[in-house]
Amino acid sequence: FSGRSSLCPGPPGPVGPVLPVLGEGVRVPLAAGGEVEYAALDYAASAPALRSVWADVAEFAPLYASVHRGAGHLSQRATDLFERGRAEVAAFLGCRAADRVVFTRSTTDSLNLLATALPAGTRVFVFETEHHAALLPWRRHQVTFLAAPRSPGAAVRTAGEALASAPAGVPKLLCVTGASNVTGELWPVRELAAVAHRHGARVVLDAAQLVPHRPVDIAALGVDWVAFSGHKLYAPFGTGVLAGRADWLDEAEPYLAGGGATRVVARGTAGGVEVEWARGAARHEAGSPNVIGVRAVASACGALAGAGYEALAEHEERLLGVLREGLAAVPAVRELSLFGPDAPRVAVLSFTVAGWDGAAFARALSERYGIGVRAGLFCAQPLARLLLGETAGVGGGGGGNAGAEGCGGPSQAVRVSFGAG
Ligand code: PLP
Repeated sequence: FSGRSSLCPGPPGPVGPVLPVLGEGVRVPLAAGGEVEYAALDYAASAPALRSVWADVAEFAPLYASVHRGAGHLSQRATDLFERGRAEVAAFLGCRAADRVVFTRSTTDSLNLLATALPAGTRVFVFETEHHAALLPWRRHQVTFLAAPRSPGAAVRTAGEALASAPAGVPKLLCVTGASNVTGELWPVRELAAVAHRHGARVVLDAAQLVPHRPVDIAALGVDWVAFSGHKLYAPFGTGVLAGRADWLDEAEPYLAGGGATRVVARGTAGGVEVEWARGAARHEAGSPNVIGVRAVASACGALAGAGYEALAEHEERLLGVLREGLAAVPAVRELSLFGPDAPRVAVLSFTVAGWDGAAFARALSERYGIGVRAGLFCAQPLARLLLGETAGVGGGGGGNAGAEGCGGPSQAVRVSFGAG
């Protein structure tokens, strides 16, 4: 804490953004007086919007109108742009011809939607290390929580063994993350998908932390569904995506009942009301769609594809190297890792600082240096608690974490994350 420059000496040479984001150059007040340029290092929670995304939204905003609901010129144009957005997202994700792209509010929403669409009797397999959004939506089904693996190979073995011992002939789903929001570590998605398919299971990929950093190609990875959030992909809040196989989605009850999800609603022959639900993405998109959010997500996908993930990964790798070198020079710092310090990771890194509470450390970074990071348990409490060495059980956590609520809760952990900006 001897000064921002000694904490982060900076890489040799200038580091320009791969893609310019909003908020660059914003100055914030410091507790000791004066102000400094803000360093946003909490992209894993929400990334700032790309300038190009904001420009696209600003161009469209004065002319938006209701989608799928109006005969007027602007409604038709908005509907056309909305559906074009769906096609752009499908292309970005390498969707197969028969895949659906359903627009939701977020990754959480997408995974909850899929949970409602699983056939009766589905067995779900999920690692205990997942973000709560991937860990918890399956509770109405029979869930097997897989123990935290300590290497990518162990993850594949653990999943394979669990799936092999599941009864044949019942639908099975494996839910996996692409990159951890706690450690940034990459998971062996292709290998997990292959082992799942060998045992007759389908796979949903939680790509919330992967797609901002690495290409996600649904066909190349061999997964059945992908879920992600616009606000982690340089678009503003409010839009998520669930993309993948149509069959279970088309056969399921609509996620929300209401306008747009119906094909016909008639007065029933014996009184009451009869409904024939829509097929296709509309079945799960009841209500007036968030056309601005969809335009923003499609624009972000286009910008990332245009810039190229190689350039992004190189940029992040360089900054990650600087960060880790700086942290390694501070003896009180301990990086949190499941697969070991050399495991490949995206630009997300958590650590503890001996003698510091995580929230106090994060507050000090903000107040003294204008650096915005995250502290707590990161909505992945089982994983964070494991890495912090706590004992198992609600209320049994050590380190003063008993009673932690929601996503955060007191913890020693601090997370730094960044990306294209
Ligand atoms: N999955 C992972 C790995 C995440 O990091 C997050 C958010 O932090 C989510 C899912 C949930 O995303 P959202 O809050 O946008 O629904």
